[in-house]
Amino acid sequence: MASSSKHHRVVIVGAGFGGLEATYRLAGVPVEITLIDRRNHHLFQPLLYQVATASLATSEIAWPIRYLLRARPDVTTLFANVSGVDAGGKHALLEDGENIPYDTLVLATGARHAYFGHDEWEPFAPGLKTLEDATTLRRRILIAFERAERETDPARRAALLTFVIIGAGPTGVELAGTIADLARDTLPRDFRHIDTRMARVVLIEAGPRVLAGFADDLSSYALHSLQSLGVEVILGEAVTECSADGVVHGGKKLDARTIIWAAGVRASRAAEWLNAPADRSDRLKVEPDLTVPGHPDIFAIGDTTTIAGPDGHPVPGIAPAAKQEGKYVADVIKARLQGRKLPPFRYRHAGSLAQIGKRLAVIDFGRIKLRGAIAWWIWGIAHIYFLIGLRNRLSVALSWLWIYVRNQRASRLITQGSSKVAS
Ligand SMILES: Cc1cc2nc3c(=O)[nH]c(=O)nc-3n(C[C@H](O)[C@H](O)[C@H](O)COP(=O)(O)OP(=O)(O)OC[C@H]3O[C@@H](n4cnc5c(N)ncnc54)[C@H](O)[C@@H]3O)c2cc1C
Repeated sequence: MASSSKHHRVVIVGAGFGGLEATYRLAGVPVEITLIDRRNHHLFQPLLYQVATASLATSEIAWPIRYLLRARPDVTTLFANVSGVDAGGKHALLEDGENIPYDTLVLATGARHAYFGHDEWEPFAPGLKTLEDATTLRRRILIAFERAERETDPARRAALLTFVIIGAGPTGVELAGTIADLARDTLPRDFRHIDTRMARVVLIEAGPRVLAGFADDLSSYALHSLQSLGVEVILGEAVTECSADGVVHGGKKLDARTIIWAAGVRASRAAEWLNAPADRSDRLKVEPDLTVPGHPDIFAIGDTTTIAGPDGHPVPGIAPAAKQEGKYVADVIKARLQGRKLPPFRYRHAGSLAQIGKRLAVIDFGRIKLRGAIAWWIWGIAHIYFLIGLRNRLSVALSWLWIYVRNQRASRLITQGSSKVAS
């Protein structure tokens, strides 16, 4: 792509939380922005599990990037996969062979699943990262109930009605609670030959507690709340095998047709592209101003990076952190154009939230800790606030109200194939 630009060219790779925030914050700055993403939509990942559990529709948590930036003539959006960086020649390299020149590059390419050296488990235990992942999981969960309805062998029926979630961080806890609600409250009246309330939801965690990033008392509260929803929580046992038949944990075999991976992530390939230092999860170790070591014209932000926070611990891989970094990078670009220098990036942790089933949540604001129904309302309001656009806010609020009051989940659609197709 030839450039006739007189302006400073900023290329941003990734329109997730970090990349989009940087783009928004560069409004009015005399730069020419090219925003590249291999998906055509910005995705609100914190609510992906609600698509996977048939609570929300895909279009309620994702927006076309082009549409979000339609009022920004300074931004060109490219639907393309970046496959590398030519740091010497200052080009982002696209998979299709095209090169995009930059003066400043921002890498905001996020993270992917990590199976801790067992990539062969992925087909049996898919993770949750994209809309496709969410609709695939929704399909598997709903098909399991459909097959159980027609299965006459008790052992096979039990395996169909066993849902295993590996990893008890916020995503695992949220999935487990919502699948339990689905089985107990939403589905029972729709089936004739099975009692969906008998479904087993098993949450397996290698560490000693659920929600390890939260304070101890909130973690205990989450454990008891999950158990009261009927979720079987197994702590301190790593899964050592995943197959089409189930999992092995602590040396024991558990037959299950639906397994969900919520145990780990690793960064995108940004560090590899630049041969830059990275941690064990491939996260690029950035400088205090979020530049890549040895490349002052390349920034890296969000889940694809690691940097210490004010408490000495790594900044967590959460949306507010990626947004703060996106804002900081925009400020640095602005300051550099004006010949100014900014102090190093400083992360401010606003809090951690997790939903447990349809009426409870835990919130850890540090000094203030909330649990139960009040936390659920704050959790709901916060998530609705962070969605984009009035239509989606209203639509999500209505969907949640319907689930809260009527136990109905509107998106129980099995798509991507007929009943003949294996899940
Ligand atoms: C299931 C789930 C639940 C979560 N829940 C929460 C929560 O409750 N609260 C919270 O704060 N955080 C949560 N997170 C984490 C949060 O979503 C991430 O921290 C945040 O998305 C990181 O932002 P990012 O900009 O670094 O990456 P992302 O938002 O992941 O964006 C990366 C973008 O880069 C694009 N991309 C990647 N590689 C390429 C390439 N080679 N070429 C072109 N484009 C590329 C991707 O398509 C994507 O659009 C959750 C994450 C998941 C997966």
